[in-house]
Amino acid sequence: MTQTRTLRRWDVTGKHQLACVGFELPELPADRVRLSFICNGICGSDTHMFHTGAVHPGHKGAHQPLTLGHELIARVEECGESVTGLAVGDVVAVEPGLPCGTCANCRKGRYHCCPKTMYMGTPPQNGGLADEFHWPGHWCHKLPASLAANPVLASLVEPLAACRQALELRNRIVPERAEDEWTVIVGTGAMALGVLAVIKATNKAEKVMVIGRSAKALKFAKDFGADLTLQLSGIDPKATAESVLKDRAELFRTDHFDSDETLEAEFADDAACLAAAKAAREAAKRVRAHGAHLLEIEAEMSREAISAAANVLIKENAAVMAQAQTHANGYISSLFECTGDERLLETIINSKCMLADGVVIGLGCHYGVSFDVAMLRRLELAFQPVRRSCNQFPPTIALLNEHPELFQPLVGSTVKFDDFGKLMNGEAKADETGTGGPKCVVVR
Ligand SMILES: [Zn+2]
Ligand SMILES: [Zn+2]
Repeated sequence: MTQTRTLRRWDVTGKHQLACVGFELPELPADRVRLSFICNGICGSDTHMFHTGAVHPGHKGAHQPLTLGHELIARVEECGESVTGLAVGDVVAVEPGLPCGTCANCRKGRYHCCPKTMYMGTPPQNGGLADEFHWPGHWCHKLPASLAANPVLASLVEPLAACRQALELRNRIVPERAEDEWTVIVGTGAMALGVLAVIKATNKAEKVMVIGRSAKALKFAKDFGADLTLQLSGIDPKATAESVLKDRAELFRTDHFDSDETLEAEFADDAACLAAAKAAREAAKRVRAHGAHLLEIEAEMSREAISAAANVLIKENAAVMAQAQTHANGYISSLFECTGDERLLETIINSKCMLADGVVIGLGCHYGVSFDVAMLRRLELAFQPVRRSCNQFPPTIALLNEHPELFQPLVGSTVKFDDFGKLMNGEAKADETGTGGPKCVVVR
């Protein structure tokens, strides 16, 4: 007789709510293996699910509670009757998407775009941040011994598989690059730096420029192999507007309006604050003249101030892209956009920094992002979005196994399974690995 044990898993139960809940596994289906948790990388989408209460634009039904985690390394504890190629004790990287297997995309082998995919940690499919987990053996990739001995490194397989997918798509559109051509990566998160590492592991000579906001992250990127780094504008339009309005709302509600000279003197070296203050003043004048209510005046001032600061941000980032173009002598033939920031994507495309015939690879979360395709036409640019990965686990495992030293620095911290909730709630800090890398991995 089997004894039932209470297992634990981390569930999102609401907005900013995580709970470690007890559960029991059902009987093991024939095609599945029972896995025990070894470690799991935390992805931006886990954080997103936590903040939104597991609301996902691609899923309309009930979504709570949802177990997080889709970058899972686990040990096989039991194999279902029809499972082949796996044995108890094997350490596996879990490929987190379950395609339907019967639609046109699945039949053609493009399973990553199956519209019926059940993806771990994305509603309605529970993820792997659990003591134990059932998953089809077919989607569990056995790790070679040296990687199995370094599961934290191995947990990079899932995100790096998407990076490798991105690189393959790039190579399909821009198959050859002359020595004088540059590749640009925008962003400094795990995906951006994963692309950098995959490029350098595949072709060390490829010239890569990394463009991001944080000076610290750019320093990491430089040490990590970037040939050049450039810093984006640090303006936060909302914060800028708030700071300006905090001091002025009271003044502008009355008949006191600072002159241009007064504002210019106060914000001599802060173009965004100056623009926001001027815009707020003009908005106040305009709506007050129509006899608007206090709340309306404040709302309008805030809207105009944010928009004015955003315009300065766009201008500054356009200047950074122009700088990138100058550094590359005009020869930027591919660009990986890894931030998912609509305004930034638009700035990049509008800046015309790229060489004709090039490609912008969208590797960030570009949900609900729009831009004017006419700007692509001007340079016959392609925009190639990336959706997860297809047949990339085996070659990515091989890549990690061959070059562990290249990828290891990506893991900047670890956190114990038991402390995951505290970490997400900001009550605990992760243990630094000392590399300064962007990835945090949940460990036993
Ligand atoms: Zn992920
Ligand atoms: Zn399908």
